[in-house]
Amino acid sequence: MDNYKGVLVCGEIAEGQLAPITIELLGVGRKLADELGEGLSILLMGSKSGSLGQEAIAYGADNVYTVEDSILDTYNSDAYTQVAADLCKKVLPSIMLFGHTDIGCDLSPRLNGRLGGGLSMECMALSIDPATKLLVSTRPVFGGNALATMVSKSARPQMATMRAKIVPPAERNDARQGKVIPVEDKIDASAIKVKVIERIKEEVEGVKLEDAEFVVAGGRGMGTAQDFAKLRELADILGGAVGGTRVACDEGWAPAPLQIGQSGKVVSPKLYIAVGLSGAMAHIAGCLGSKCIVAINKDKEANIFNVAHFGIVGDWKEVLPAMTAKFKELKAG
Ligand SMILES: Cc1cc2nc3c(=O)[nH]c(=O)nc-3n(C[C@H](O)[C@H](O)[C@H](O)COP(=O)(O)OP(=O)(O)OC[C@H]3O[C@@H](n4cnc5c(N)ncnc54)[C@H](O)[C@@H]3O)c2cc1C
Repeated sequence: MDNYKGVLVCGEIAEGQLAPITIELLGVGRKLADELGEGLSILLMGSKSGSLGQEAIAYGADNVYTVEDSILDTYNSDAYTQVAADLCKKVLPSIMLFGHTDIGCDLSPRLNGRLGGGLSMECMALSIDPATKLLVSTRPVFGGNALATMVSKSARPQMATMRAKIVPPAERNDARQGKVIPVEDKIDASAIKVKVIERIKEEVEGVKLEDAEFVVAGGRGMGTAQDFAKLRELADILGGAVGGTRVACDEGWAPAPLQIGQSGKVVSPKLYIAVGLSGAMAHIAGCLGSKCIVAINKDKEANIFNVAHFGIVGDWKEVLPAMTAKFKELKAG
């Protein structure tokens, strides 16, 4: 086991750039590597990967392994697993990090199966145990009602997928030095069973929920689709986005991609206004990174008040119009 060293980030490229989750993982990976006194590497796949090498170094990587093959330009389970497994066998990382994204969720268990590592998924925090130097992964369990810490004592690499927007992105320093190492990997085309026929981009009205600085979210307490739609006025005044709990989305008041929570999107806006939602763990798992949470609920015992920075106990039918009018007035100057 002693021959496994360092931290390897499995990078993602989105529209020719390092994906935001990859920059976050470089920040986390740098801290873990420094605590271990070991190196931080990243694997970038795709024909443009070489051109992103210096940027990955600026965000904290010591070594950037690039596999420049156009077959890797769109995610492909078989090809990515082959390339990542081949690199891991050469580099022998002690820790390997993935984003908890569509790619990370597909790739990490496959790779774990091939390499026989130990995988924790959907982590919210990663640290090094000072005594054992093992990776400690914190992740939600029991439908988000508790947090568990996981340690992989003997399996290597210790793998983890990390949720987006839980940690700030790594700081960029263009003076950092590192190595870009092109890797030749002959991808066995006959082993590729999946072909991407078409990519359909999700249509978004207004600001994208994950990118919004202001989010107004509603739950079952909104009562009807017509009432739920009243959240939009406040979101528009703030220049933000509307989101919903699973109940709101299941009721059809908001489309499924606007669900926030454990099985929905993770948001970390400057301001999260939670209206008529109870604050179930599975929901707040998706908004805990918000800088300021304001809750409106008629039940003073609602769990949302345990995480809210400001709480208003009252019926949203009275509070929301007053709040909307006040923001409108403030905005008008
Ligand atoms: C595996 C799993 C994954 C899940 N994933 C998610 C997820 O991603 N996202 C998610 O949201 N949920 C998720 N859930 C469901 C979650 O556990 C809760 O059931 C859900 O979040 C509750 O939604 P809610 O707050 O809208 O409804 P409720 O819990 O019913 O809360 C409604 C709230 O509205 C308040 N209210 C009612 N009327 C008014 C009024 N007039 N004015 C003010 N307040 C009012 C009530 O006091 C109450 O607190 C998941 C569950 C499981 C088991």
